[in-house]
Amino acid sequence: MGIDKGEIPGVALTTKLESLLGWGRKYSLFLYPFVTACCGMEYMSVACAHYDIDRFGAGLPRFSPRQSDLLLICGTVSHKIGPVLYRVWEQMADPKWVVAFGACASCGGPYNNYATMQGADVCIPVDVYIPGCPPRPEMVLDGLIKLQAKIQNRQIPG
Ligand code: SF4
Repeated sequence: MGIDKGEIPGVALTTKLESLLGWGRKYSLFLYPFVTACCGMEYMSVACAHYDIDRFGAGLPRFSPRQSDLLLICGTVSHKIGPVLYRVWEQMADPKWVVAFGACASCGGPYNNYATMQGADVCIPVDVYIPGCPPRPEMVLDGLIKLQAKIQNRQIPG
């Protein structure tokens, strides 16, 4: 069996570099809170000092999609706001991630009517769904941890 020894260090280095990038990305999340309804109040609660989301590197929200890599959709997504949501997502640079915060953003929540999208994933890809109406802050932290695991495992959306 012939092993090309010249290739082995290159492969090992690439793996470690990807791992390092994943580690860096998961602890430097610049989130854009796309707030449309009452889940926004719960986002404010999570963002307060008591829950310390700085531990996850997600403490500094950005209010420009071009400076963000995590889109946090807090609230109902109506058919009218859908194109705006898509435009915001489109303006974010890759790699980027999306979290559906609460029942409405995940699946329409209690609003099954002509005006409401049955989840944000009708118009953009979603990486993590956080259930609850609204979700408890602990559930939001759990969602963040799941997203970090996804980023570390290099599941970078195309
Ligand atoms: S999930 Fe509940 S709390 Fe959140 S936006 Fe919908 S109705 Fe409001």
